[in-house]
Amino acid sequence: MAGSPQKNVVVIGASVAGHTFVNALADKLPADHRILLVERNGFTVHLPAVVRALVVPGWESKNLTAEVTQASIFKSGSRHRVLSPNSVVELKKNSLVLEKPFEGSTEVSFVKAIIATGASQPLPMRPTPGSTLEGFKADLVRIQNDIKAAKSIAIIGGGTVGTEVAGEISELYPNKHVTIVHSDNGLLQPSGIASTAKEVYSPPPTDRKLSVALEKSLKQRAVNVVLNDRVVFPKGPVQGSEWDGTSGLQHGVRRLALQSGKSVEADYVFVSIGNTPNSGLVKAVDPTALTNNNYIKVDAFFRVQAAAGSPLSGQYYAIGDVAAVAGWKTAVAAAAEGPALAAVIDAEIKGKKPKAYSAPATGGAMVVSLGTKEGSGYLPLPLFGNVTAPGFIIGMKTKDFFAGKSFFPRFQGSQKITA
Ligand SMILES: Cc1cc2nc3c(=O)[nH]c(=O)nc-3n(C[C@H](O)[C@H](O)[C@H](O)COP(=O)(O)OP(=O)(O)OC[C@H]3O[C@@H](n4cnc5c(N)ncnc54)[C@H](O)[C@@H]3O)c2cc1C
Repeated sequence: MAGSPQKNVVVIGASVAGHTFVNALADKLPADHRILLVERNGFTVHLPAVVRALVVPGWESKNLTAEVTQASIFKSGSRHRVLSPNSVVELKKNSLVLEKPFEGSTEVSFVKAIIATGASQPLPMRPTPGSTLEGFKADLVRIQNDIKAAKSIAIIGGGTVGTEVAGEISELYPNKHVTIVHSDNGLLQPSGIASTAKEVYSPPPTDRKLSVALEKSLKQRAVNVVLNDRVVFPKGPVQGSEWDGTSGLQHGVRRLALQSGKSVEADYVFVSIGNTPNSGLVKAVDPTALTNNNYIKVDAFFRVQAAAGSPLSGQYYAIGDVAAVAGWKTAVAAAAEGPALAAVIDAEIKGKKPKAYSAPATGGAMVVSLGTKEGSGYLPLPLFGNVTAPGFIIGMKTKDFFAGKSFFPRFQGSQKITA
């Protein structure tokens, strides 16, 4: 085990949740404590901008990515350390195991460990684990070229990502035929049907007025919106022009069967479903610490709820997309949870009473872009309820997906990161 006299606060994952936690805690820790920030990729991605980067040439290099290094995260002379690229591969009681050694050992002891490992999704929504920045950009360019070559595009899933991708494609390529197939009765998730299930994290419903506005805008661009239906994923070999379940550019026009018995034809398929919490590290040591849909159970102080005697009972915490904190799994929510957990850890280390977390009202804001000029959204206001997002907020989202406001300023190290 690494033999430093420093007490380690280990953070697993350097995206929104992990990074905002680090920024809020770094200057508050006592001198005998240090942060070790572990990130498996050598870079991080401003995920909201991916919907444009996978469609619009040039956007793979804009407002999107930053290298995760000691200099980009911490000021020079800092005792805190960035371990990137490196991965946490095992969780133990009071220590964890790294893929590559740090200070001569792959096992690192800690006084607090923060799990901020986010969600798992295939390319292009999230970079493949262990990929390089250049490799990720090359993947985006390949997808841009494939979409350019396609004539008819089927988008499976009309959540925010599927809807925004439809917005980008229909703006840049107005003559391509775009269809969204979505299981809910409006775009996004207005019905909130999933929220009745037990021991399952489920997001709150979205405001139906937003679903209606988005559907109207997309229909004006001749996007075909199919609701209350699902694409059937084939279980075995297929014949002729039937779709074989693969995403991306097809070898000719394929027929996608729907549950209703109808079908959609497309020569490009974009799969925008299947976002799952990246909680395998927890599952491997204590599956009882997970909800039935694999989110990490936490209390109001983000402490992992593990069985007595479990290696995870004690000093493990979870935030962001991987944690079963109530509310949506968004960058906005993760950016609120990071500083809130930092306040909990700061209080605990200093022997004070930490404050229970309740999500701020701003976490219920939803802004959806439809290309560079259009979008819709709402902001939750106390007493007033949801009000339509003003034009300047929509403009900030469509311009750079709030990267100038929330992504680049997150990098507070000696090396400045800009667009
Ligand atoms: C295409 C797309 C568009 C989106 N648009 C919006 C939007 O407009 N607005 C909004 O608010 N939200 C949006 N979101 C959601 C938002 O991006 C996520 O909610 C947010 O990124 C969650 O942050 P996180 O830190 O919890 O997890 P992630 O961003 O998933 O980051 C987890 C990090 O942990 C690292 N990691 C994982 N396992 C290990 C390990 N074992 N060891 C070391 N490191 C590890 C990963 O490499 C990654 O960097 C979008 C998401 C996508 C995919």
